[in-house]
Formats: sequence, C-alpha cells, structure tokens
Amino acid sequence: MQFSADENFALRLDGEDPLRSFRGKFHLPAGENGQPLIYFAGNSLGLMPKSARRIVEQELDDWAQLGVDAHLDAETPWYSYHQTLREPMARLVGAQPVEVICMNSLTVNLHLMMATFYRPTKSRFKILMEDPAFPSDTYAIKTQIVHHGLDPKEALLLARSREGEFTVRTEEIIDLIEKNAETLAVVLIGAVNFFTGQLFDVPAIAAVARKHGIAVGVDLAHAVGNVPLSLHEWNVDFAVWCSYKYLNAGPGAVAGAFVHERHATNKNLPRLAGWFGNDPNTRFRMHLEPEFIPVASADGWQISNPPIFSMAPLRASLAVFDEAGGMERLCEKSRKLTGYLEFLLKQAGSERFTIITPNDTEARGCQLSILVHEHPKELHQKLEAAGVKADFREPNVIRAAPTPLYNTFHDVWRFAQILSAHQ
Ligand SMILES: *Cc1c(COP(=O)(O)O)cnc(C)c1O
Repeated sequence: MQFSADENFALRLDGEDPLRSFRGKFHLPAGENGQPLIYFAGNSLGLMPKSARRIVEQELDDWAQLGVDAHLDAETPWYSYHQTLREPMARLVGAQPVEVICMNSLTVNLHLMMATFYRPTKSRFKILMEDPAFPSDTYAIKTQIVHHGLDPKEALLLARSREGEFTVRTEEIIDLIEKNAETLAVVLIGAVNFFTGQLFDVPAIAAVARKHGIAVGVDLAHAVGNVPLSLHEWNVDFAVWCSYKYLNAGPGAVAGAFVHERHATNKNLPRLAGWFGNDPNTRFRMHLEPEFIPVASADGWQISNPPIFSMAPLRASLAVFDEAGGMERLCEKSRKLTGYLEFLLKQAGSERFTIITPNDTEARGCQLSILVHEHPKELHQKLEAAGVKADFREPNVIRAAPTPLYNTFHDVWRFAQILSAHQ
C-alpha cells in the first residue's frame, strides 16, 4: 500500500474504511478540550462498548426482580451464563467450542493450567519463557517452580534477543528447545510480547516442542482480539488470556483459557477442582456426591460459579467482534492502520527514536513500541498534554496501539503530527 503524509489521505482512508461505523459503538474518553483523546491504549484497557451498559443493567434488574430464581429464569440464565461466551470466544482464538472456558483472571488461569501441565520429574523439570515476559507471568512461573520444591535458577530458561537486537529470533527459541529437549517440561510463550509488540511464530515453536514431548502453553494477553489465532490447529496444549485489553470487556473482566481437545476430554488429567468443573448432572447433589467427576471439556477446569457482572460486558464486546466480521476482517484494517503509523514515524525521519517492533507485518499486531533516545518521559508527558493516550514503559519506551474497532487513520495522522512537533 502506498501511503501519503497528507492529511487528506488519512481522511480518505477513513472515508473508505468498511469498519468506520464501529467507532460509534464505543465511548471515547475526552481530553480537557472536550475532544476525544487519541486513544492508543487499547493494549492496556480497551474502551467501553456502549452496548455493555444495557447488558449489565439487565443482570442487575434480573437480580432485583428474581433473586435466586435468576439462576434459571433470567433473560440470560446465570446458571449457564458462561456457555453464551464459549462460541464467540472460540472463534476469536481459533478453537473448538469444547476447548474454551471463560473464567477467573489471566494469572489465575495460568496457575490452573500449570497445575495440569507442569508435572516436573527428576529429569524433565525446566520451563522456557521469552525475555522480557510480563511480570505476572514471571512471578507465576517462578512460584510454580518453587511450589514443586525446585529452584528457578535451575528450572527457568529465558530466550533473549541477541546483542544489539530488540526482539527474540524464532531460531533462538527453537535452538534452546533442541538443546534442552530432554529436560524441558513446558514452553510458555507470550504470543505477542507486551513490551516489544513482537508476534512470535507460535506454530513453528509449538511443532518443535511437541516433537520432543514438551507441553506448550501460550499467553494471549496481547494477542487475542489483535491478531488471527488458530490454537486448535497449532496444536498447543493450553492457552490463557485476559479480556480487558483488546477485547474491551472492562476492568478485571473475566479471562479465558484453552485446553486442547486431546486433553479437554480427558477426565483423568490432574487438576485443581471446584464444583463448577463437575458434571452438571451430579453438581447439585452436593454433599451426596463427594467424588469429583470433571466435565469432559475445558469446563472441567472451571472452579466457581460464574461472576455474572464481569461476564456481562464481555458478552457485549464479543457481539461487537462478531458484528465486525471477525479477526480476518479486523486485521486487514489493523495492518493498514499500523503500517500507516510506521510510515509516518519513519517520514518524521527522527534520530530521536527507534521502532523496536518488527517491521514485518507477520511478526506484529497493532502495537508499535517506540524507543525514545532522549528525554523519553518528557516526550510522553507532552503527548499526554496534547490529548494522546499511549503508555510509557520504563525506562524509555512509548507503546502506541491503534486498534481497528475504534481508531481512525486520522488519529494516526494526528499522533504523528504531535510527535513530530514535540521533538
Ligand atoms: C495484562 C497481562 C497480564 C495481567 O494478568 P491479570 O491476571 O489479568 O491481572 C498477565 N500477563 C500478560 C502477558 C499480560 O499482558
């Protein structure tokens, strides 16, 4: 695509954008001048779909009017509420419906998956992650290792970028897997790295690990709702994600987990259980049924009864994704939007910053991470003052994530203008 730095060009792309009406489905926070912010922080907290309010209010009304009977008699019965999320969520992550369950939060789900898939033995006990991983994942994995009486110094392997590079090469990861093929128990990859925005070649990594009998887990926090995913086909063992970033389901929204079909239907796998993972046919026999019989699907990992008020906005949000035609259609716009941002930043021709996100569109989603060489914090503050919401990661990186549902080409154009003006 031939881009142009001309403002009219940006306006023309917006006019031709088949998804342009979707911006109107979201509440856009305004700056001090009352104008909508240039909101590039959807990788941190996605914006509120306007339809979320009615759905949440419906649940409040059902509670008010029905009390306990809302479990079965509400407009959307609470007892089976999680079922309404399964299919739209499965579409977004490329899974079979039996492989997906919406529950808990991301890090909790990571622990639950590790309880099943990290079963260290004397010879096979190591875990491989990319560096830098999101701190919550690092804490979870280190404490998993300690929980099994092992030492993270021996059991945790990190795949790093080479000297002078910012992203981790796939061959580096594959090389580490091959070299530790006998001792690795789990490979855990953040499909899109939170810091650099790098999209890893998950299928290639998964294929090598699985060849050696190593379990593969994927953290989709920055990938779901951002890039096309095919978890079932990639044959990964498990995945976890949150729903408040690109999925726009609100603060602390209910997260997701994927368990591959070949495990999901296996009732004998060890797990940490609770009553909502139990076969619904015997669930309410309560104390008469002390034997845990897991549901033969990802539901078998569910522990508690579903938090309706934090699932309701997720229902609203998933409906918007379906209405937009799914990830392929969104990604078509996303690649253009981010490509345009990259083009304009390069046009600005600055020596003052470096884009550390890969320029290969196959190796990134919508986020560009901009490493600022001088006074990074000050530049970020100036952007904020000018009505830009993009986040700052210590020590020197500004992350900008234009999303295809509610950002425009003109947002991108204005962002680049403001950034250039403040050099
Ligand atoms: C956002 C994010 C989290 C957050 O975890 P919660 O348990 O939802 O608070 C964890 N891991 C990664 C990679 C993230 O990007």
